[in-house]
Amino acid sequence: MWVKDIFYSFQGEGPYIGVAQIFFRFYGCNIHCAYCDEPDFSHQRKNYTLAQALEEMAPLIAKKPHSISITGGEPMLQTDAILEIAAHVDVPLYLETNATMPEKLDVLLPHMSYYSVDYKPGFLAEFTAFIAKIAAYTGPQKGPEVLKDRVFVKLVLTSGFSPDETESVAKAIADLGIQIPFIIQPVTPFGTVQQKASMQDIELNFAAARRWLSDVRIIGQTHKLIGVR
Ligand code: SF4
Repeated sequence: MWVKDIFYSFQGEGPYIGVAQIFFRFYGCNIHCAYCDEPDFSHQRKNYTLAQALEEMAPLIAKKPHSISITGGEPMLQTDAILEIAAHVDVPLYLETNATMPEKLDVLLPHMSYYSVDYKPGFLAEFTAFIAKIAAYTGPQKGPEVLKDRVFVKLVLTSGFSPDETESVAKAIADLGIQIPFIIQPVTPFGTVQQKASMQDIELNFAAARRWLSDVRIIGQTHKLIGVR
């Protein structure tokens, strides 16, 4: 498996801010977001065996984390490796994904406890199919309350982001007959993205999402504020 890093820290985004996690950061991504803070430094790519990954996680699991963040890059490029990890650890798995590959999700559904699902501009059809699959599996299996508690959507808000696009994403979720938290995350300037979203951007996009969804929140990246990884 291609890994960038395995470390223990605290979740800095979304409704689970502050919980202790093991971050299992897979290497590589299938898209290129301008604000990405995990750019493609190929010299940081490590080829791990399952045994090496489990050995590195063992002392971190001993610290009793809330969950293991399966993140990247885009972890769903390596679903076989995720399944191997799922078969060997007894800690809830928290998938952080760009939701662009719904066709790869089915095999993971029985093994994931939490889903942090990003919406990426230009991938509305894939995003909608992704959420539909989670809802069809998790809702009937575990109930709508668990669905709301374990699945949320994150949209990174860049300067000038279209409220119409935000509304399309929120409507796509509501049209599935579900309500899940919708997190608007004002971008943290990084790389070529140096401009923050304005107060007007935040207000317009919040209102657009709120037309369709009951739980819309504005949450920035807190780990960068407090200086943890
Ligand atoms: S999907 Fe995530 S990892 Fe991939 S480029 Fe975008 S921000 Fe970076």
